[in-house]
Amino acid sequence: MKIHEYQAKKILAEYGVPVPKGGVASTPEEAAAVAAHLGGKVVVKAQVHAGGRGKAGGIKLVASPKEAEQFARAILGKDLVTHQTGPKGVPVRKVLVAEGADIQRELYLAIVVDGGARGVVIIASEAGGVEIEEVAAKTPEKILRLKVDPTLGLQPFQGRKVAYFLKVKEEQVRQVAGLVASLYGAFMENDCTLAEINPLAVAPDGRIMAVDAKLSFEDDALFRHPALKELHDPEQEAAQEVQARNAGLNYVQLDGNIGCIVNGAGLAMATMDVAVAAGARPANFLDVGGGADEARVAEAVRILLSDSGVDAILVNIFGGILRCDVVARGILIGAESASRNLRPMVVRMLGTNAEEGRKLLSQSSLDVKLVNDLGEAAAAIKALG
Ligand code: GDP
Ligand code: MN
Repeated sequence: MKIHEYQAKKILAEYGVPVPKGGVASTPEEAAAVAAHLGGKVVVKAQVHAGGRGKAGGIKLVASPKEAEQFARAILGKDLVTHQTGPKGVPVRKVLVAEGADIQRELYLAIVVDGGARGVVIIASEAGGVEIEEVAAKTPEKILRLKVDPTLGLQPFQGRKVAYFLKVKEEQVRQVAGLVASLYGAFMENDCTLAEINPLAVAPDGRIMAVDAKLSFEDDALFRHPALKELHDPEQEAAQEVQARNAGLNYVQLDGNIGCIVNGAGLAMATMDVAVAAGARPANFLDVGGGADEARVAEAVRILLSDSGVDAILVNIFGGILRCDVVARGILIGAESASRNLRPMVVRMLGTNAEEGRKLLSQSSLDVKLVNDLGEAAAAIKALG
């Protein structure tokens, strides 16, 4: 689960991370009032669950409450499209109005759960700011990756190592090491999957502050954090993702055009690999789960058919506990209730009751191509373009 910047900054401040003073506003008038209260130069920032706001025109430094009000009026109620949101963008319902920071250097500091490293990794760079993705792609040597041993936890020398890598002044090493420890504390205690400060700004007078902050939480641990759960903002997610969560489906929207329905997360990933190898781009990851029933499969079909980016659907089911005839009935129910905008389907079914499932589909009026293995599936997807 993601939260907004203003919420993340509040949590990080509780752990001792310095953040600029500010307040959140839902109307242009409120934004002016916060700006007046802060006084002087302020920054007005669209609150959306996506980065890249600076480049997309969602952030503005202004000199007066009047200008803060004008900019808030220009973005509140609009959809902001950034390189992280997809073409439709996400609605801006609130703005953060904060003291405008004087920035001399923009650093990057993050902590993530890294599957590859089998643990928590601290990431730091002195080339922070809005081009961090490009830094990672073109000059990876400018990025430090430091694994935290899960049994030992963060060690003090690791905080100092980050500080030295960031080339902060000698007298700031302790402060930065302390900040790394604060961020790590916030990360661990809240079961985060990501805690990112970009930029971590160094002011001309040497002060260091989190000018931006992003926290994401492990969904499966949210039951331990009822207060965090309250921060959930479904408006910031794709409608399909909300629908999928309510149906108990494991679904992630992607930007391709081939919808995928699969049982089992491993098979789902393998299926996506096969689609990509065939030159297709998956529109989603979707694992209906081993315990799915007709209703859940039907909902999966409806979700994919409600996505205008989906041109064709690839179904890959290995029937075990989940029987293929159940899946076939689910597909028929889902397709029936969305009958106006059907898409061609490629279906591979193996395992329990596969013959019955295939028969149900081939006797239906749906545009279904039944295939026997993933190679055939790939060829059929390719043929659909
Ligand atoms: P993002 O684009 O969504 O990551 O939003 P950020 O909060 O990181 O802002 C993007 C960029 O705007 C930062 O890298 C800064 O260069 C600039 N910026 C944001 N807030 C301030 C501020 O208070 N003062 C100054 N001088 N620049 C800011
Ligand atoms: Mn940022």
